[in-house]
Amino acid sequence: MMAVVRTAVRVEGIVQGVGFRPFVYSLATGLGLGGLVGNDVDGVFAEVEGPEAAVREFLRALERDAPALARIERIIATDLPPAGLAAGLAAFRIVASDPAGARRALVAADTATCADCLRELSDPADRRFGYPFINCTNCGPRFTIVTNVPYDRPLTTMAVFAMCDECAAEYHDPADRRFHAQPVCCPACGPALTLVDAAGKPIPGPPVDATAGLLREGRIVAVKGVGGYHLAADACCERAVAGLRARKHREDKPFAVLAADLAAARRLAEVSDTDAGLLTSPARPIVLLPRRADADIAAATAPANRYLGIMLPYTPLHHLLAAAVARPLVLTSGNVSDEPIAYRDKDALSRLGAIADAFLTHDRAIHIRTDDSVARAFRGRPALLRRSRGYVPEPVVVRAGFPRPVLACGAELKNTFCLAKEHHAFISQHVGDLENVATLRSFTEGIEHFRRLFDIDPRVVAYDLHPEYLSTKYALDLDGVDLVGVQHHHAHIASCLADNDDDGPVIGVAFDGTGYGIDGTIWGGEFLIADRARFRRAGHLAPVPMPGGAAAIRQPWRMAAAYLELSPADRLDVWRRNQDRWAAVAAMARGGVNSPLTSSAGRLFDAVAAVLGVRDTVNYEGQAAIELEQLADPAERGAYDAAMDTPADPNTPFRVRGADLVRAVVADLAEGTPREAVAARFHNGVAALIEAGCLLLRDAHGLDTVALSGGVFQNVLLLERAVSRLEARGFRVLVHSRVPCNDGGISLGQAVVAAATDSEKDPLARDSQIVRTGVPGRRGSRMKPL
Ligand SMILES: [Zn+2]
Ligand SMILES: [Zn+2]
Repeated sequence: MMAVVRTAVRVEGIVQGVGFRPFVYSLATGLGLGGLVGNDVDGVFAEVEGPEAAVREFLRALERDAPALARIERIIATDLPPAGLAAGLAAFRIVASDPAGARRALVAADTATCADCLRELSDPADRRFGYPFINCTNCGPRFTIVTNVPYDRPLTTMAVFAMCDECAAEYHDPADRRFHAQPVCCPACGPALTLVDAAGKPIPGPPVDATAGLLREGRIVAVKGVGGYHLAADACCERAVAGLRARKHREDKPFAVLAADLAAARRLAEVSDTDAGLLTSPARPIVLLPRRADADIAAATAPANRYLGIMLPYTPLHHLLAAAVARPLVLTSGNVSDEPIAYRDKDALSRLGAIADAFLTHDRAIHIRTDDSVARAFRGRPALLRRSRGYVPEPVVVRAGFPRPVLACGAELKNTFCLAKEHHAFISQHVGDLENVATLRSFTEGIEHFRRLFDIDPRVVAYDLHPEYLSTKYALDLDGVDLVGVQHHHAHIASCLADNDDDGPVIGVAFDGTGYGIDGTIWGGEFLIADRARFRRAGHLAPVPMPGGAAAIRQPWRMAAAYLELSPADRLDVWRRNQDRWAAVAAMARGGVNSPLTSSAGRLFDAVAAVLGVRDTVNYEGQAAIELEQLADPAERGAYDAAMDTPADPNTPFRVRGADLVRAVVADLAEGTPREAVAARFHNGVAALIEAGCLLLRDAHGLDTVALSGGVFQNVLLLERAVSRLEARGFRVLVHSRVPCNDGGISLGQAVVAAATDSEKDPLARDSQIVRTGVPGRRGSRMKPL
């Protein structure tokens, strides 16, 4: 007879709230093992006892057959002397959670309704038939309802709902697929839907059907979701979508569309295999897809855009609503203009009351506001443009690690923060633009929530060098921590390195709109030599004045005036359209009055967009560049040249004359070249100057890896052209995938730079080109102990 052995097992990673204990239970009982399993602050612990072969098989299957949503990071098995656990075979138990000690267990992300639950949802014989809050251990809300760890019902917003007998029986039955599913509920005991008008007065009738009726009439309905309220409208109804735009004060920015299923998505857009994978993934992001010419969708949904942002239903309510309306719905975040998305019922009613004709709401509270994520496929690989619902708070695993706990405060626009320890970077949900009190509160409260959830007490705090960023002010106001200032574009490149688990050094190309430079100018068209700890500015676009400062960001025609000050601009339409102010603005640029210098690539795109008549003013960040990309003819292969000034001293950065590209645009237009071809030749010219800069730096530094980062690389035409050219030259090219290339990825980069400078205390800062800004020991409010 084979020896009886006993083994203690610890499983770490995302193993709570994903059906791990029932999985261990059925695995162990199936193998005839005795023992126990439970959750604690580190994850799942178990003990098994039985024949040696069965215990070995148990350990193998633990990783091999783990539940779909589990992310196992580590399994530790320790042999113990047998204790007679196997004597009675009913002797496998699930034991109570242990909330004591340091919290390390990972909280899962919110997860789309699973196939089993969908089957029950549409089964008239099931007791949860048509119930909009159906969920199980494999699906449902997680991060947005968790108030603390360990992940157990009393520490979620489901705590106020007492389970009925039937739900309790499922919850306590280890053989049931709802065993210890914390949000388990049913029509008898769980949350309920209500439909109210804008004054809060109940609208009679079954809420989903009544909502569908309103939407088909062209009304706008606010719908409470997982991480906040959406505003819904019939995506085929021009009047409804245009009305939503007007009321929301959102002039042009595309709306996302909810398609009922993959087939419905394919009627609206081209869907590649990678796209289909993203659309149907448990995270269910909005996926940017090439829109079909024959897509039956209101023009106001995504004006002047070749792409359509489409998502599939991720809650039972979405499924019911999509089926009842039977047409695509605009589903956009419930906010006015740039405010954060509404997620509390009273607040939603007051803020969205002037937009929505009705509110489809419910009584399960959202603990933390979380926007939809946005993704796209690039070369067969997913790339996140906004990493939020469905992904957060799963950590990004960073091999290089964090020797001391780090808080990185992120940038100003598209802010995320990041708390990191050991090998985990917990990047926050999309906080938004830190420009108003509501987003700032999300930021500070979010940091406190993450510190509690992941038991991180930061010792090192990283921040952007821009003194006016609210995230920077927050950091500089902390006491009792080491502060590390990280240059914006270095953070971008470090983020790209971490995204690809690469240490560098690399040639970093960081192209974006605005980032605080170390020379007092605004950077944004940067070639860096960088690793995680250090960077050197090796080249950049030649600086030009930004006449009027921030006004030049809102009015791209001002950048055209700045770039074209010496050209015969009077033949140009952009001059005619703005002639009343052109001379004054050009003089302002020439005289350097209220005209900070910038090497920004974003401003170069703005200038060209204005010259091409794409737009003279913008309604949202990056709009001119986005529309310029849409204009460009992808079949055009011609490229404009930009001269490069290369100083004899190799420590002085080279400069690329962006003005050459603008002048080439003007010259081609004068010859009557179609705008589509001109826009494409400009894109190809930017790709060519990236190639030229990288070739120069490869010769000088012997580096053959390039990291591309910064918001400009959301431009997929530019990204494709740049990567193709670099790869044709034999470069290895790193692009973003797990975190955004835009400022949403900055916090990860800051954390990585702070950790790298923290772990190497050697005095490498002798080189004056190398920047390390720490302001240790500043006075301010002490980081509160938890
Ligand atoms: Zn389910
Ligand atoms: Zn129930």
